Amino acid sequence: MTDQKPISRALVVGAGIAGMQAALDIANAGYDVVLVERLPSIGGRMAQLSETFPTLDCSQCILTPRTVEVGHHDRIRLLTYSEVESISGEVGHFRVRIRRHAAYVDWDKCTGCGICQEKCPKKVPAEFQRGIGVRKAIYTLSPQAVPNKPVIDREACIFFQRGKCRACEKFCPTQAIAYDQEDTFIEEEVGAIVVATGYDLYGLDKMPEYGGGQVPDVIDALAFERLLSASGPTSGKVRRPSDGKVPKEVVFIQCAGSRSPERHNPHCSKICCMYTAKQAILYRHRVHDGQAYIFYIDIRAGGKGYDEFTQRAMEEERVIYLRGKVSRVFREGDRVMVFGADTLSGRQVRIAADLVVLAPAIIPRPTTRRLAEMLGIEVDSAGWLVSADGNMQPVESGREGVFLAGTGIGPMDIPETVAHASGAAAKVLELFAQWGKGT
Ligand SMILES: Cc1cc2nc3c(=O)[nH]c(=O)nc-3n(C[C@H](O)[C@H](O)[C@H](O)COP(=O)(O)OP(=O)(O)OC[C@H]3O[C@@H](n4cnc5c(N)ncnc54)[C@H](O)[C@@H]3O)c2cc1C
Repeated sequence: MTDQKPISRALVVGAGIAGMQAALDIANAGYDVVLVERLPSIGGRMAQLSETFPTLDCSQCILTPRTVEVGHHDRIRLLTYSEVESISGEVGHFRVRIRRHAAYVDWDKCTGCGICQEKCPKKVPAEFQRGIGVRKAIYTLSPQAVPNKPVIDREACIFFQRGKCRACEKFCPTQAIAYDQEDTFIEEEVGAIVVATGYDLYGLDKMPEYGGGQVPDVIDALAFERLLSASGPTSGKVRRPSDGKVPKEVVFIQCAGSRSPERHNPHCSKICCMYTAKQAILYRHRVHDGQAYIFYIDIRAGGKGYDEFTQRAMEEERVIYLRGKVSRVFREGDRVMVFGADTLSGRQVRIAADLVVLAPAIIPRPTTRRLAEMLGIEVDSAGWLVSADGNMQPVESGREGVFLAGTGIGPMDIPETVAHASGAAAKVLELFAQWGKGT
């Protein structure tokens, strides 16, 4: 460490629930935080969820107070649509260069009125809705976005691609459209860093045996969350993508790409047993005469009230659990045929379903590896961040002053993520307390 007094200010990378929790804990203790998020708005995956197990709380309702608090906190410098370019220095004195992507909208002038999005003529599939539903070329991720400021997708924008249109500019009441905006760079000095970069889902296209990427009515579990969500593309009505019909028979397939060392990923994704039970329950709440089937290898529902929750799916909602693996999924007419084995009865099972929902493996985000390299911290062969000691130091990285929060280290549900993030924040605060306040 240099002779200069260490800086009691933290950088948090990633503003999902983990990054937001860590940032709020540090900021509420009286220290400044720079919170960097790659996407235009904060909330991460939790913002995409409908309701949460085992309480069935509305995800957006419990998340929004946090996103608003982060957005307004005078000790949090929120940099969305931004990425860390480089990091140098050491604990107490990290120097960070952050790239702020051009939004092509002057966010100081923009009031978030949404007229630009209404008037934009170009529609593209919405990533936030997992491809079910569309967004405009100028867009916010969701109606509850924090900050509620749009960005222009250059690749989709007619003006950027063909030199004409300018509809957003024409109708913007505050002249906030700025086609000539460029990326900007921000330099920050911080004493400690929290990495909270979260998880991805194993791609449907990697699982052709389940019809992934081939059959339109085979979707992943996050897409189903969007179908269940009141703010989703169908306003919470369960409709299948191919023809908008209400599916009367839905097959959920757990461990899709997990626990499959030969073909896919060896690990258990830990949260899928619970969220699949939740999705089957919510499906039955929406479609009273619908039948849900769940293929499982075994049920891993460790957690307070979790086993009872899966029992509720079976007993109260008549969800049929089939112990066994699915061998084939293919389209036949307007049905999705699911062939599998029920290893408890020893019978082959064939279901003519209307919709198939895969619970894909939870995997690390590819960009986390690059960030880890920049920080000089370890990732394992799959790309998960590695804590200094899995037993006694679950939030410490191998590098002094760099801490880990949330699902960047492996699959976790929301309560575990929040606890892990608060643990990381506590370690940052321990350092700051040692250094003394006032920098
Ligand atoms: C289908 C499904 C249903 C679920 N349902 C439930 C449920 O009912 N109850 C429950 O408890 N859990 C549920 N979960 C789990 C829940 O989603 C996670 O526990 C939680 O969202 C993890 O939050 P996180 O902050 O760790 O990660 P994320 O939400 O992934 O957030 C990480 C953030 O970091 C940003 N980021 C990534 N890399 C960078 C970078 N290099 N620079 C800047 N920013 C970056 C990302 O854009 C993102 O905003 C479900 C998961 C799935 C897949």
